[in-house]
Amino acid sequence: MDKKRIVIIGAGFGGLRAAQKLAGKPVQVTLIDRRNYHLFQPLLYQVATAGLSPDEIAYPLRAIFRKQKDFDFLLAEVNAVDFAAQKVFTSRGEVPYDALIIAAGAAVNFFGNASLAENALTLKDVGDAVHLRNHILRMFEQAAHENQQEERRAQLTFVVVGGGPTGVESAGAFAELISLVLRRDYPGLNLDDVRVILLEAADALLAGFPPKLQKNAAQVLKAKHVDVRLLAKVEAYDGRLVELADGSSISSRTLLWSAGVRVAGLMDSLGLEQARLGRVRVTPQLNLAQHPQVYVIGDAAYLEKAGSPLPMMAPVAVQQADVAVENILAQAKGQKQRVFEYRDPGSLATIGRNAAVARLGKWQFTGFMAWVVWLVVHLIGLIGFRNRLMVLINWTWDYLFYDRAVRLITRE
Ligand SMILES: Cc1cc2nc3c(=O)[nH]c(=O)nc-3n(C[C@H](O)[C@H](O)[C@H](O)COP(=O)(O)OP(=O)(O)OC[C@H]3O[C@@H](n4cnc5c(N)ncnc54)[C@H](O)[C@@H]3O)c2cc1C
Repeated sequence: MDKKRIVIIGAGFGGLRAAQKLAGKPVQVTLIDRRNYHLFQPLLYQVATAGLSPDEIAYPLRAIFRKQKDFDFLLAEVNAVDFAAQKVFTSRGEVPYDALIIAAGAAVNFFGNASLAENALTLKDVGDAVHLRNHILRMFEQAAHENQQEERRAQLTFVVVGGGPTGVESAGAFAELISLVLRRDYPGLNLDDVRVILLEAADALLAGFPPKLQKNAAQVLKAKHVDVRLLAKVEAYDGRLVELADGSSISSRTLLWSAGVRVAGLMDSLGLEQARLGRVRVTPQLNLAQHPQVYVIGDAAYLEKAGSPLPMMAPVAVQQADVAVENILAQAKGQKQRVFEYRDPGSLATIGRNAAVARLGKWQFTGFMAWVVWLVVHLIGLIGFRNRLMVLINWTWDYLFYDRAVRLITRE
């Protein structure tokens, strides 16, 4: 009865890790999320491009914590936190805490552009990925019976905005879905009508990667017939016409927006000090200066290393979860807390079959080697033996037979 109650908001990379780290400790854990599963977001684009099905990259939280004692999961939306009264307000009632870890992650950022918010497709959740898959396949179905050349070309033009890892991976995967798979399903379509266009506002793809890898990614995409356009800033999109800042435009029925994220909506309503992209400023020990029993980790937290904000990436969230848990336990015992030091494991992005770029420590690879590293890292990152096996089988099948198993339009 006298166990301290640790409440964790969010069961993504940070929250999940924190809850797992607290196993066997003398505390009562309550994990709250609006979804009943943990999602492996780095493979969402493969669901969108018909390579994997959603259940292969998501895992039910109750199954993960089946054996963990002093653990409770609450499926609910968190609406507010009363830091003075130490209570979390959810759609299912109030939850008191002795220590709180906020790991609410990020949401898509349209930078206030209403036309994009209304008409662009996004890739942040399972629903988005399935919607995008349905949309791409439906565009091919419509184009197969479209007599008007201009409309057919708009249906078969796929615009990806944002040259970060998600944009690069999605553009490469679209190109392969089309050239390796759909061309066989739609023999009547003229492939010259099909275009994948990757728009990036900066002068290079994959910001933060070494220049050699950035160039390689652009070259490989071009070799896959992706039209890579740098210094191309999107101004507006009405569902039919993409308007660019230089006055040009592209007729397209598909615009995937992967050009930005900002903190999840909850973080804007907590009355905390926010920095770039709404991230909440934390101490080097990862808690709030005003409320030392509250920790913020992952995408939601703002902390700098050598003058730059830590990236919004899974390894940051996972490493911060470890330190937050250590510090909560140290705090309870009146011991000194640890300062968070990020150990950068490197960066990876795949561009398709046999092609990826990788920076691991001082090593940089491209091509097949990098692709194998990417495959292994992502397989290990998935939760559950069944999911790893299913993904491995799917990847092997697709590799050998140039196939994508999940070419289903599952909604009207
Ligand atoms: C398409 C895509 C590809 C990516 N690829 C990579 C990659 O290759 N490598 C990499 O390192 N990173 C990648 N990232 C980034 C990585 O996923 C994030 O940095 C990481 O998930 C952050 O972890 P987190 O715990 O802070 O938040 P998340 O993992 O996003 O978890 C947040 C959780 O909080 C829950 N939540 C939010 N608000 C509420 C609320 N109000 N009430 C209840 N629950 C709430 C959400 O449902 C979610 O489960 C990718 C992201 C995306 C979207």
